Amino acid sequence: MTELNEKKAAVYIRVSTDDQTEYSPDSQMKLCIAYAKDNNIDILPEHIYRENGISGRTVDKRPQFQKMIANAKKKPKPFNTILVYDFSRFARNREESVTYKTLLRKKLEIEIISITQPIDEKKKESVILESIYEAMDEYYSLNLSENVKRGKKEKATRGEFQGVAPYGYKYDKNTQQLYIDEEKAEIVKMIFKKWIEPDTTIRKLCKFMNDTNFKTTRGHKWCDRSMKLILQNITYTGKVRFTEGGMKRNYDHPDMIISQGKHPPIIDDELWNLAQKKMQEHKDKWYKYKKEYSKNEHWLRGIIKCSECGASLSHVNAMKGRSGHFQCCGYNKGRCLSSHYIRDSVIIPTILEQLKKDYSERLDINIGENTESIELSEISLLKKQLDRLEIKRKRIKDAYINGIDTINEYKENKTELDKEESNLKKELEKLNYNQSVKMRKERTYKICEEAYKILSDDSVPPNIKDTLAHKLFEKIVYNKQEETIEITYK
Ligand SMILES: [Zn+2]
Repeated sequence: MTELNEKKAAVYIRVSTDDQTEYSPDSQMKLCIAYAKDNNIDILPEHIYRENGISGRTVDKRPQFQKMIANAKKKPKPFNTILVYDFSRFARNREESVTYKTLLRKKLEIEIISITQPIDEKKKESVILESIYEAMDEYYSLNLSENVKRGKKEKATRGEFQGVAPYGYKYDKNTQQLYIDEEKAEIVKMIFKKWIEPDTTIRKLCKFMNDTNFKTTRGHKWCDRSMKLILQNITYTGKVRFTEGGMKRNYDHPDMIISQGKHPPIIDDELWNLAQKKMQEHKDKWYKYKKEYSKNEHWLRGIIKCSECGASLSHVNAMKGRSGHFQCCGYNKGRCLSSHYIRDSVIIPTILEQLKKDYSERLDINIGENTESIELSEISLLKKQLDRLEIKRKRIKDAYINGIDTINEYKENKTELDKEESNLKKELEKLNYNQSVKMRKERTYKICEEAYKILSDDSVPPNIKDTLAHKLFEKIVYNKQEETIEITYK
């Protein structure tokens, strides 16, 4: 009898010659087969890809891997799962891992399963680990896009135009140059000239353009946004502008690059300057500044507590010769008598050091109540089900006593209930074990190890550290007098 499993898997096998201790390709294959069997996955024999005897790091092209990716893109897709021994088989570095995982998971909807690092979405540990992997992925994709940005930046410095030709220009793909579209260039000139007239507003300009039936490049009606894009587009003066994160159109960005372009101008500098002056006035008048992200935000916000009063230590950024530091917010407000001033340069390394010690020496760590744990909510659900079983028991007994059910019917019902109860109890036991302190400590050590790498890396953006720190730490109590910290993990 053949069973039809939903998961049809390819297998990718690779050994890195650098590591002598690892499993041979045959053992990896055996483990993959066993895993597939346990998890109702069909391995497709024609889609077993085995990279023989090359080191992934030294050989650029992994022919089998390339073949697998090529097949994955075929339609209909030949497999919906890829089994690997672990993720390090799959890609040679993080960047590559992100690229291929994104391609496979998101674009082709092919799941990659590492048989040694299975991600069981139900378990809290896995949820946290997955979020750490995600945080790392995000961090590495940032690096990737950094490289792309760098390339764009260099192009901009050379005065090469990038992007879609602005209204009034045509872009020639072959020469990669902008050329003037005479008819529309006249309209651009007119827009600028009208704009600097005292009574003209953006709204009026749009109305004029729409009334005279001039459409935008894309054939739409003019609106505030498209009009502002014209009036602030420095391309019209023959220059190119490049800002990090280009699409955000932050024209005041300090890192903005403006260089002499290779295309002819439509607007002269004088007209441009007048137009920008008016635009600034317009902005000053109308633009409501977004509330700036608090300047004193820190990724440890709300986590460090004062040992004296229990309040959070708030953060103050470095400025004017004062170092970045934390202080008890109760003390700041006069409610706490004990200053808990501590510099970033002291508290952060101390926390990181403790974090490392905790997992590497398997120290006895504090773990919070964790009332939100998935297990706990499951446990209470199971207990409720057990309570309901008791009620059912009483009901079948009553039915028998009152002569509604025969003795056989009663016995049958009772056996059914006994079976149900024993199943529920087994599950409860398992959950209780998962919830046990010992188990939770073990998984915390594992998470700490991953977290340490991220939190101690200066190039990781603070928002990623922020997310991670708040998932990891319940609180960190700082005692100024004794110069100690006490970490409680979640
Ligand atoms: Zn205090």
